Amino acid sequence: MSEGITIKVGDITKENIDAVVNAANNSLLGGGGVDGAIHKAAGPRLLEDCRGLGGCATGEAKVTGGYKMPARWIIHTVGPIWHGGHDGEAGLLASAYRRSLEEAVRVGAKTVAFPAISTGVYGYPKEKAAAVAVGAVKKFLEQNPAIEEVRLVCFSEESAELHRQALAALTAR
Ligand code: ADP
Repeated sequence: MSEGITIKVGDITKENIDAVVNAANNSLLGGGGVDGAIHKAAGPRLLEDCRGLGGCATGEAKVTGGYKMPARWIIHTVGPIWHGGHDGEAGLLASAYRRSLEEAVRVGAKTVAFPAISTGVYGYPKEKAAAVAVGAVKKFLEQNPAIEEVRLVCFSEESAELHRQALAALTAR
């Protein structure tokens, strides 16, 4: 296991962690999947807060409070929609992870939980997304000691295994 990165199966809305990353859409006004679950767990004040943010570009990130969730902050990021892989998807996905972690450092979060961004409705192939996710997170942690733990919270054992394999492949090099 690479230093600072943990991988688990779970519901990200239940994590005891400083900041939870939301795989949101450009409007930041709520959606399905993990976005819907986070809005439901945080309560209606989250949507009010999000209305004031003016949306979020793909690969960018914006922070709100965590409201009724255990996490103090929610970092809303927007991953790319998969269009076949030749549309800058990998760079945008890596950017979503990196920008989320930059925002975590800015607000003072030391522990951050991520869902597998873009691997649901946005259709990013899970194995490819796992490689981008662990690569971007590992690179960030090597350069930023302020973050103590990045927890990749996968919604299935299959997804967790893909992340474990991607991390092992990365550390074996
Ligand atoms: P995107 O639009 O970025 O693809 P989705 O919410 O559709 O976002 O899916 C992203 C990933 O989050 C998927 O792998 C999905 O299985 C997972 N997911 C959905 N709900 C939760 C949850 N409560 N906790 C953790 N992961 C979740």
